[in-house]
Amino acid sequence: MAEDKHFAHTKVVIRDIGLLLSGDLSRPILDANTVVAVNGRISAIGKEKDLDLEGATIRINANGTTLIPGLIDSHVHPVAGDWTPRQNQLNWIDSYLHGGVTTMISAGEVHTPGRPKDITGLKAMAIFAQRAFTNFRPGGVRIHAGAPVLEHGMVEEDFKELAAAGVTMLGEVGLGSVKDGATARQMVSWARKYGIQSTIHTGGPSIPNSSLIDKDIVLAADADVIGHINGGHTALPDEQVVALCESSTRALEIVHNGNEKAALLTLFTASELKQLHRVILGTDSPAGSGVQPLGILRLISMLSALGNVPAETAVCFATGNTAKIRNLDCGIIAEGRAATFVFIDQAQHSSGKTVLHSIQRGDLPGIGMAVIDGAVSAQRSRNTPPATRVPEVGS
Ligand SMILES: [Zn+2]
Repeated sequence: MAEDKHFAHTKVVIRDIGLLLSGDLSRPILDANTVVAVNGRISAIGKEKDLDLEGATIRINANGTTLIPGLIDSHVHPVAGDWTPRQNQLNWIDSYLHGGVTTMISAGEVHTPGRPKDITGLKAMAIFAQRAFTNFRPGGVRIHAGAPVLEHGMVEEDFKELAAAGVTMLGEVGLGSVKDGATARQMVSWARKYGIQSTIHTGGPSIPNSSLIDKDIVLAADADVIGHINGGHTALPDEQVVALCESSTRALEIVHNGNEKAALLTLFTASELKQLHRVILGTDSPAGSGVQPLGILRLISMLSALGNVPAETAVCFATGNTAKIRNLDCGIIAEGRAATFVFIDQAQHSSGKTVLHSIQRGDLPGIGMAVIDGAVSAQRSRNTPPATRVPEVGS
């Protein structure tokens, strides 16, 4: 990966970790207090006394705080740079970093003013966005963008060409002119053939001129991710949400800018099916609801508190689950993975007894630091409630 050269010859040692959440649903809590990363990759996890800590270029004392993988927002709508025309805000990506988001997945650059809808134009825009956001990382946040929106008239060769040019995913199916199950299924399968992942818009129209995508179209299209299964914002009827969970094996994406009741129904259904590994989280922002720097944290707390899910499991929905489904090298604290972390602690004056307890009570944790690819990207968050304890660099 081209970015890794920026982190060459670094050795990061993180010690005095109070609690280590792996992001991996099969083993969400690790018995370790120290993590070592070399050149932006995790090289060792364990007890301080057992690890080689010599030659560190950056030492971080976690001060007993909790280390989790950097959060992944599975559903954003970036446009260009760190600007969104949707609510005309600047620096929204940097604000999300202060909400613990270190990786973003575009569900289509659909808010681009003058967005081209002809096939040559939409392909050019996707390739441009993929290149631009690979090169531009506000605060170090990694943005996977360049997600073309399907339009009638696209042929197999178009998907082959997009894949060869570096495009790895589609924008939400249903936001363009392709809204019928048969055409969507054909294009999704062409995309899949060339290694391009797909997401489908689910539910009622988001804004004027978008449209309803119901359960039958979602099942027919068979996209890799059932995008905002809880609506964006208008959800499908309960029986359709349950049918999507039961009749498909694809990822169940719950978004902040959706219907909270449908989010909980999805969670309860996935839990009953013993398929929590399918649950991933996004904000579906910027949108009519604005930008939400704390959207992913708010979802983790809401699902944990009202969905009766342990906090360490809810964290997996926004880290390891998404990384596995999206084929990312971050999201799980394990040897060989990207050294991308967030340090959290119980917010000051939260009534929870521990950070996990405070999340299960519906409070947000405080963020004390974010590290991306082995580099410190942010210290005490300007957006979360203040963490009780924060890590320190250099001791
Ligand atoms: Zn949508």
